[in-house]
Amino acid sequence: MERYIDLRSDTVTKPTEEMRKAMACAEVGDDVYGDDPTVIKLQNLAANMMGKEAALFVPSGTMGNQLAIMSHTKKGDEIIVWHRSHIVMYEAGAAALLSNVGYAIVKNEDGFITDTDVLQNIRAEDVHFPQTGLVCLESPLADGSVMPLSMMEKVYNTAKERSLPVHLDGARIFNAAVYLNTKAKDIAKYCDSVMLCISKGLSAPVGSLLCGEKEFIHRAKKYRKLLGGGMRQAGVLAAAGLISLEEMTKRLHIDHENAIHLAKCLADIPHITVDQKAVQINMVYCEITKQNFNHSKFASGLLEKGIKINPTRGGKYRLVTHNDISREDINFVVDAVKR
Ligand SMILES: *Cc1c(COP(=O)(O)O)cnc(C)c1O
Repeated sequence: MERYIDLRSDTVTKPTEEMRKAMACAEVGDDVYGDDPTVIKLQNLAANMMGKEAALFVPSGTMGNQLAIMSHTKKGDEIIVWHRSHIVMYEAGAAALLSNVGYAIVKNEDGFITDTDVLQNIRAEDVHFPQTGLVCLESPLADGSVMPLSMMEKVYNTAKERSLPVHLDGARIFNAAVYLNTKAKDIAKYCDSVMLCISKGLSAPVGSLLCGEKEFIHRAKKYRKLLGGGMRQAGVLAAAGLISLEEMTKRLHIDHENAIHLAKCLADIPHITVDQKAVQINMVYCEITKQNFNHSKFASGLLEKGIKINPTRGGKYRLVTHNDISREDINFVVDAVKR
């Protein structure tokens, strides 16, 4: 099998050898009956690491976010959410369809909802108005920027004063924890529910976890069944997830260091600009500023050398480091880009 250096995303990570072994001999049961011991272990570990009462293993991050919205809100509510968040942009409009909620859209450049945004978007008690049902935060954002904890704390306290629940889309919360040099639970304490992905930089093949209060998770479990997400011998997948949480979370700093290294090397190449200060987790954004540059030839040239990148968006590229990319790979990429 040909090996590629795949910089498109950290979702492309393959399960490690250790994961494959653990999956092969995982102790399993029927998780719809609630008796898969490996799933139970994974859920307990995730809940514990997030400082929450309970957790639910779900097939994808999208399902985790949508179950959170379904479980927190009622029909006709409005949710406060950033205009380019994953929930608004990349979940196929599911919140409107599944939860019948509207969006109170927060538009700003940096993507972080402030306490002032929350106050400005909460609906007053009025027969004409929808009711505000939830605040959705996202950190890190898909561009790799991490929400400052002080900001999260203010949003959380403001929402609590108004009895509003807060959901955190924490697909890469462990990357945020590395950047903030703190524990994931010290981030998750500023939300009522959190969704995290084990299928991204943590190398598991499938899955996400939704964490929150026991009663909330109980409701989410029912909705998971409703959406067809009740899985049977899911312990085969959870076995990989246990390694994600126990082991792979400890090596994320390597991906961050590789991203910083990549950004630094790219910045030294003429006609490439990189905002090195913007590299907080495992993502590098760079822009090729050369006039009349042939972007598709560039991408196909890299592919010939065994390097996969996503197509440019307006001259910009997002490059993502992960467990299947070594420092040598990064140096190889820099050399290929130069050429
Ligand atoms: C990847 C991601 C999700 C959901 O991921 P799935 O592809 O559905 O597993 C949600 N939010 C953010 C910010 C993400 O990056």
